[in-house]
Amino acid sequence: MATITKIKSIEHLTHDVLRVVLNKPEGLTYIPGQAADIALNKPDWNEKKNCFTFTSLPEDDHVEFTIKTYPEHHGMTNELLSAQPGDEVIIYDSFGDIYFNGPGVFIAGGAGVTPFIAILKNLQKQNKLEGNKLIFANKGKADIILEDYFDAILDKDFINVLSNENLDGYEHGYISPEIIKKYSEENLKYYYLCGPPPMMEAVEGHLASLGIAEDFIVKESF
Ligand SMILES: Cc1cc2nc3c(=O)[nH]c(=O)nc-3n(C[C@H](O)[C@H](O)[C@H](O)COP(=O)(O)OP(=O)(O)OC[C@H]3O[C@@H](n4cnc5c(N)ncnc54)[C@H](O)[C@@H]3O)c2cc1C
Repeated sequence: MATITKIKSIEHLTHDVLRVVLNKPEGLTYIPGQAADIALNKPDWNEKKNCFTFTSLPEDDHVEFTIKTYPEHHGMTNELLSAQPGDEVIIYDSFGDIYFNGPGVFIAGGAGVTPFIAILKNLQKQNKLEGNKLIFANKGKADIILEDYFDAILDKDFINVLSNENLDGYEHGYISPEIIKKYSEENLKYYYLCGPPPMMEAVEGHLASLGIAEDFIVKESF
């Protein structure tokens, strides 16, 4: 099903990430972690669907997406950089492979954090955040999406890994088996994984080398 709705607000969260808030279409349902295809309802763009994850919660009175922009693709995310409140968006059915199964380690690369924004927000709302950790890989500090928010809700269970910067309080380099092991605890059963394909491939290899069974890995590639 496709529904047309309007942009309510649009703002930068980081230098290249937008928070796009839409009026909530009647009847829209989704589970935290799920995504939907969307398209811009204007000539030349209304058939170009791109997929984004809901970062609002199903019960919110609006729909929110957190979108990394790539001007060099000349695609939809570039168009969003000049979008305005009131512009129309077509939103399609919800889908997705990431869902909360139980406490665990959430491992995200860049915009791959979006399903975890929704899942962790939902756990926080239910007072069930304890025992979950977020390991978030980015190039630099300026790329970290919602750093203050995750610091506030997760405190020491929020671990940043920066590949291009070496800062106090931040792990440096790429996510490694050592980093995963350092922040995993015996009782953390599940590993949630989302990011760009090369990062996913590397981290899946790390999890295998640590003896984590496939059954305990919940993943989606962006
Ligand atoms: C299930 C799922 C959920 C997702 N959720 C989110 C989310 O919540 N937030 C988010 O930010 N992203 C998310 N993504 C990723 C997101 O869909 C893409 O990053 C986005 O569609 C890219 O759109 P674009 O406008 O930049 O360009 P695209 O539509 O990808 O590409 C436009 C054109 O650019 C060219 N192009 C493509 N890649 C490159 C490249 N690497 N270099 C040069 N040219 C290129 C191609 O010619 C292409 O036709 C998700 C992906 C999936 C699969």
